[in-house]
Amino acid sequence: MSKAAQSSLTKFAAGTTTEEVVQTAVLDLGTSNQKTELVRDGIEEFQAMASYIGDMVPSIPEPERYPYNNVFYQLVTGEFEDRAVKASVAQNAAHHAVDMFTSHAQRGDHGDRPDLGNGSFLKLTNQDFELVENDTGYGFKASFIRYNPIWFHVNTTPHSREYLERVFDGDADTGSCVLHVTDDGDVRAHLAVKWPVEVYEPHDVSTHVGVDIGENVLYAAAAVSGDGVAGVKMESGREFRHHREQLQQKRYRLSEKGDLRGVKACRGDIERYTDHVLHTASKEVVEFARDHTPCVIVLEDLTGYRETADDPIHDWPFADLQTKIAYKATAEGIPVELINPRNTSIRCRKCGQATPEFRDGADFKCRRCGYEVHADVNAAINIGQAYPDQNQ
Ligand SMILES: [Zn+2]
Repeated sequence: MSKAAQSSLTKFAAGTTTEEVVQTAVLDLGTSNQKTELVRDGIEEFQAMASYIGDMVPSIPEPERYPYNNVFYQLVTGEFEDRAVKASVAQNAAHHAVDMFTSHAQRGDHGDRPDLGNGSFLKLTNQDFELVENDTGYGFKASFIRYNPIWFHVNTTPHSREYLERVFDGDADTGSCVLHVTDDGDVRAHLAVKWPVEVYEPHDVSTHVGVDIGENVLYAAAAVSGDGVAGVKMESGREFRHHREQLQQKRYRLSEKGDLRGVKACRGDIERYTDHVLHTASKEVVEFARDHTPCVIVLEDLTGYRETADDPIHDWPFADLQTKIAYKATAEGIPVELINPRNTSIRCRKCGQATPEFRDGADFKCRRCGYEVHADVNAAINIGQAYPDQNQ
């Protein structure tokens, strides 16, 4: 599970409350030599200004070291009179430098100068950029240079489209935005997107959505409440496995031929395809859970599990899918809990008997009580019933 998802999980208070979820949308703004250069210049100026203020801060008395102090603004705009970026961006650089000193001091590093000026980003606030929706999709207007806004077309991905839809549906607000240039010369915007969600304490709900990520299936999800099963949803992993194997074989053939460019392109294809499938799967799981709210999503704690190098399924992107589920669940205010995976795939969910022979590929048949079911559905139900976990 991602750190972001975990930290917001720990914030859940007892009872139902409203909390603000903040997640980062990564926008691919494409590449164009000239626009990329303008962003690079902007980054350089921003970092130089942050570094300059960083040198000045120690000479300012501590009570006056707050980001909105006009002294910093005067200092930076005075020193960088010939800058290309707008005054508001100079202000952002000063804020950034002072904020860094504050968090530096909070960590107990008094006296030391935080590392400023070596970053590779340019920070914008709401007044320095604008998102637009048009016939060709989404546009991003970056207006960090005086009188010269730069327009970008957003190359949407399943990830970014979801956030952009939230914003244009009026369900979410945008916060600050950070611009980077990738090694390939592509411009990326890391945009903070925030919206309110109702949250509740996982212990207060009786419906548990157990999710099994198996070999036969991408996922099997079961909504359980006590001994009853309120619903099941499953997605086969066959097509995903097949297409991934084809792409991997293609990459191998290209690599044999020494076609490095082809290998790189093929690797990109595998990443994009995997990302697309996992995005869709995680979205389906969270939509299924949303139909059963209030509920808690229960996942297997696979820490250590994937480290078995000779495990034939270690290549299966378990962790990625779990992270995506947790991230999307947090976006909906649905808590996520982990349980110990011991015996979840071989235990009969009806009578509790656990024997490896009960499971044969996708089939589960209990020889004690006669219960028969899809093996991954049996596992998903067990996972849902295993929370709260007595073994952890
Ligand atoms: Zn049984």
